[in-house]
Amino acid sequence: MDKKVYIGLGSNMGNKSENIAKAIDFVACIEGVNIKKVSSLYLTAPWGRTDQDDFINQVIEIETDLSALNLLYCLQDIEIKLGRHRDGKWGPRIIDLDILIYGEETSLLEELQVPHPYLLERLFVLIPLAEINSEMELPDGSKIREVLSRERALTEGNDIIKL
Ligand code: ATP
Ligand code: CA
Ligand code: CA
Repeated sequence: MDKKVYIGLGSNMGNKSENIAKAIDFVACIEGVNIKKVSSLYLTAPWGRTDQDDFINQVIEIETDLSALNLLYCLQDIEIKLGRHRDGKWGPRIIDLDILIYGEETSLLEELQVPHPYLLERLFVLIPLAEINSEMELPDGSKIREVLSRERALTEGNDIIKL
């Protein structure tokens, strides 16, 4: 059966919005993947390592019959096709494709952690997720709107601009 999956995209090098658009075109071409929803683009301050350019981020909802690992490998192929190099933890990148949520599945493999370990702490992911599915329940049972308002209260919240 098809799984409902959320993917987070990010870019902070080159033509950022074009990189993201190209990545989404490649995702649309993966056999066994259907794109269901696409959030707005967001201009966001870098997270984790702040000595780098701002990011553009976007989140998409897909349905897929691929396993989580096979989907990850397809996303990694897309990163390579778009010219991503290994750039150190949380460093600048042409494109980043993360699996945020893969149906109800939990994976704690180093290669694949779902739900994404920083999902609940990243406004640049929570805001576009809430945009495309405001009623969504996260895998731990929490409601996206509640998590989002808690996170907003903890942060300045003014470093994310909807484009
Ligand atoms: P973060 O995962 O905190 O956003 P990052 O995106 O900068 O960091 P990368 O350098 O892109 O990290 O990826 C490092 C490794 O993370 C990849 O080799 C991949 O196997 C692994 N990984 C684990 N869980 C996931 C996931 N849910 N989506 C994508 N990659 C994942
Ligand atoms: Ca990432
Ligand atoms: Ca990544």
